[in-house]
Amino acid sequence: MPELPEVETVVRELRGKLSGAVITRAAVTAPDMYRRDSRDVATLEGARVATVERIGKAILIRCEGPAGELDLAVHLGMTGRLLWTAREQEPALAHLHARWGLSGGAELRLVDPRRFGYVLVGAPDAVRANLAIGPDALSITPEEFARALRGRRAPIKALLLDQRIVAGLGNIYVDESLFLARVHPSTSGERAARRAREILAAARRVLSRAIEARGTTLRDYRRPDGSTGEFQIKLRVYGREGEGCIRCRARIRRIEVGQRGTHFCPRCQRAPRGVNASRRT
Ligand SMILES: [Zn+2]
Repeated sequence: MPELPEVETVVRELRGKLSGAVITRAAVTAPDMYRRDSRDVATLEGARVATVERIGKAILIRCEGPAGELDLAVHLGMTGRLLWTAREQEPALAHLHARWGLSGGAELRLVDPRRFGYVLVGAPDAVRANLAIGPDALSITPEEFARALRGRRAPIKALLLDQRIVAGLGNIYVDESLFLARVHPSTSGERAARRAREILAAARRVLSRAIEARGTTLRDYRRPDGSTGEFQIKLRVYGREGEGCIRCRARIRRIEVGQRGTHFCPRCQRAPRGVNASRRT
């Protein structure tokens, strides 16, 4: 569930708290939270946090220490929260799967009820390769984006969700971006490529507004201090099926595209030829 704006918020809020801190203790208590080929988090003990960045939907914490330069990547999956607390001895949390003690007595904790997230530790190049993600939604050029769409028969909705094509978008922001760009989610990549510039511009507007609002909290997403984001009140199509479109008052519909629930306005986002837009689910 956390997408680019939520992860960017977590990164921005953690950066000031973690930069320069030394990791005194590191443990993953649920071994299935490790991504394949990860080194043990204990190799981070004694290392100092140099930078905190976002790469797609992953949080990337670069550490420098006795074992050289190591990256710690944390992906929040569907329900993950990366929480920061000033004191190490806080009461136990449910679904707490990893913790990093920090110099000064603070602690970073990974809570993830559904465990679709992961922890990955390794040399920077190995971590980058393991993440297997394409250019970021905030940095891909319109030309690169158009090239990635050309010749594809898959619907634009599915292509935007594919992290190898463009990294950072998930179900919420893809639906919001296509609404803003007035593009039907079932449009083929081939056709959508002609409007790549508009789609990308719309995605960036949606993403930057959502970052300003500190992300969207529908259920699980929390900022590192446990508070919620505020973009949920600004969603225009996602989760609004049956309600009136803010532009034209037509009823927002929910259909399945590529097996994902997809929200759109049937009047603002006209179906491409050959797509039966009246199908309801
Ligand atoms: Zn509309």
